[in-house]
Amino acid sequence: MINRFVRRGAPTLALLPLLPLLLAGTAAAPPGSTPAARTPVQLLALNDLHGNLLPVDGAAGRITHRGPAIQAGGLPQMATLLDEARAGQRNSLTVAAGDMIGRSPLLSALFHDEPTVHALEQLGLTATSVGNHEFDEGPQELKRIVQGGCHPKDGCAPGDPYDGADFAYLAANVTERGSATPLLRPYTVRILPNGQKIGFIGLVTKNAPSAINASMVRDIEFHDEVPVIERYSRELTQQGVRAQVVLIHEGEAVHGQADGHCDDGGPGARLEGRIKDIAQKAAPAVDLIVSGHSHSSYECTVNDPEGRRRLVTQADSFGRSFTDLRFDLDLTGDVVRDSVRAQYRPVPVGTPQQPAMARLVDTWRARSEDVANQVVGHISADFAGRGSSHRSAGLGQPRP
Ligand SMILES: [Zn+2]
Repeated sequence: MINRFVRRGAPTLALLPLLPLLLAGTAAAPPGSTPAARTPVQLLALNDLHGNLLPVDGAAGRITHRGPAIQAGGLPQMATLLDEARAGQRNSLTVAAGDMIGRSPLLSALFHDEPTVHALEQLGLTATSVGNHEFDEGPQELKRIVQGGCHPKDGCAPGDPYDGADFAYLAANVTERGSATPLLRPYTVRILPNGQKIGFIGLVTKNAPSAINASMVRDIEFHDEVPVIERYSRELTQQGVRAQVVLIHEGEAVHGQADGHCDDGGPGARLEGRIKDIAQKAAPAVDLIVSGHSHSSYECTVNDPEGRRRLVTQADSFGRSFTDLRFDLDLTGDVVRDSVRAQYRPVPVGTPQQPAMARLVDTWRARSEDVANQVVGHISADFAGRGSSHRSAGLGQPRP
């Protein structure tokens, strides 16, 4: 870990009346403890889980762009590493940037992704933005996922009645058509044990409709991200929330460097695309940005509208990695920009599984197998598998 204390700047003029107190606090602090002037915060961030409670097999479950390729993923494995990362952290929050559900494996999809919501609750998720895939079954089904209740067509999943998501599902730039009111909550505020506050604004790319079945988004609109961030950032500021984080389901691959690090002020790797534009233009009060959607991890620095350093991160999809962000809050409750650090944390499949999460996943696996193993019909000939020279054919059609 970096030493946060050597990076402390001189107290600003506004803090001068507090100076004696501050210095006394610093002098009295035993070595290694945090002076009261700074509050260390940890944000653990993931994205694009797509209901993959188990590791994804094959190439899609591999991390290839950050050193030697490794097979990665599995929520029981990630839970172990999150527990380790949180050890000794008094102010640790876990957040995500969308596509947590949708396009999921059978284990989760069979129960309309309720297993994934249960797993994310158990993982300690505090807030996520929606992604495009949260709308795969339409806005009404997303509202049910957020609020709870049985599926209108398929009824209740096994186990306790589904009671919705206990983390905040945020969608600041999604409204019903012709309305200015967000479909879900636009932001949420978390209060640390010392009373300081952190605001999270959640958005999805305004291009989401191009990746969603048109019939599912007929009644809703996706708005420009930057003005929406501006609006809710101002609201947070008015409420005295100075530490502001954007969770946004929009992302890019990093160009020009293999290790995922990039600094737009420096040579070499660079962030491109819409996320860079948003990251540079978003309201100055936004301190850092957790992104998603492109399934490719990075930790990038851009300059905000006031020329201040702003970090933009993304982890790999399918639970293959997470980002461990650390920063300090100053006495006003604002993020000390120069203190922001991001560490890339892969989740190798060989990581010991957290028993509680393994039990949860096993429970849903057994329930899904009850359904998946029912015989629904028979085929009259073998299907040609991988490696076959036959081209694929639709079910019931003659083989080409
Ligand atoms: Zn996406």
